[in-house]
Amino acid sequence: MTTQKLEIMKCTHKKQKPESSALEFGKYFTDHMFIMDYSEEKGWYSPRIIPYQPLTLDPAAMVFHYGQTVFEGLKAYRSEDGSVRLFRPEENFKRLNQSSDRLSIPPIDEAQMLAYLKELIRIDKDWIPTMPGTSLYIRPFVIATEPTLGVAPSRNYKFMIILSPVGAYYKEGINPIGIFVEDQYTRAAPGGTGTAKTAGNYCAAYKAQERATANKQAQVLWLDGMEKKYVEEVGSMNVFFKLNGEVHTPGLSGSILEGITRKSVIELLKSWDIPVFERRISIEEIVSASKSGTLEEVFGTGTAAVISPVGELLWKDHKIVVNNNETGALSKRLYTELTGIQTGEQKDPFGWTV
Ligand code: PMP
Repeated sequence: MTTQKLEIMKCTHKKQKPESSALEFGKYFTDHMFIMDYSEEKGWYSPRIIPYQPLTLDPAAMVFHYGQTVFEGLKAYRSEDGSVRLFRPEENFKRLNQSSDRLSIPPIDEAQMLAYLKELIRIDKDWIPTMPGTSLYIRPFVIATEPTLGVAPSRNYKFMIILSPVGAYYKEGINPIGIFVEDQYTRAAPGGTGTAKTAGNYCAAYKAQERATANKQAQVLWLDGMEKKYVEEVGSMNVFFKLNGEVHTPGLSGSILEGITRKSVIELLKSWDIPVFERRISIEEIVSASKSGTLEEVFGTGTAAVISPVGELLWKDHKIVVNNNETGALSKRLYTELTGIQTGEQKDPFGWTV
């Protein structure tokens, strides 16, 4: 870990904090932010925590034109004794660097990023909401700032971390969602950017989300980009199927985001001696499992919802109802265990929390 002096400039006026009950996702931001610059000559330099404020960027900054940018998302939880926990943050910084590598962005020292994040959270810790289910969402990101229109990697960047108190994902208890299996648009293809957390993957999904909404479904289930045959992800979540007592999830095909919740769920299931397989799963297989009565549960996994049970899948003329549109026992157990570890209410036998 390289040591660079972290400069801290605190705000003079603190903002009014929203009521816990009024929190939404990503609407409010804390009093401070972290920022650091990159140039070819200096590498990453000038790490600083400053009052939360707008950026001034040249209109030619490359991020605006060619989308050279990556981001991460993780959460901090405050437990009843007042201590603050992060869930596997080193995995997020590792993934940020993997995304950066795909987008030709220079890497950042992962241990250093974690140290800066901890300092930022320490300064803004009063912003961490305490109501059950609430948390502080953390958004680290990198943008290309060189002001030139040439189509080539930028020679200047900014790495930033902003913090946002967020409300409970499930306000009325954990409930199954309906999903629309997308057969027209593609999220990612082998060799593309699907494994990177980069802006273009997300705005390119809006059209499909519109189709899902028009079909009265909450989220999109993505099929592979080559044959539109194999299941990849659900919205911004990885997806799991419980088939005849075993759990199956799409393998890391090169076009799926490697979710940290996904990885944790696989490790938890193994520790419970529940068989879990990472492999190619076709949508046709899910239709036949539903017909033969072996499709027991479907759930998505991700930082936002942790576990999101799926009650219904719509694919072409097929409507598949899963577990009577009720939350399955395994989804519930995983949700309780993972959120328990994250909030510190439950023991953390894996050493996941920091
Ligand atoms: N897939 C996509 C496309 C995502 O954006 C996310 C959210 N980061 C996930 C899966 C789930 O990843 P994680 O469990 O790390 O939040």
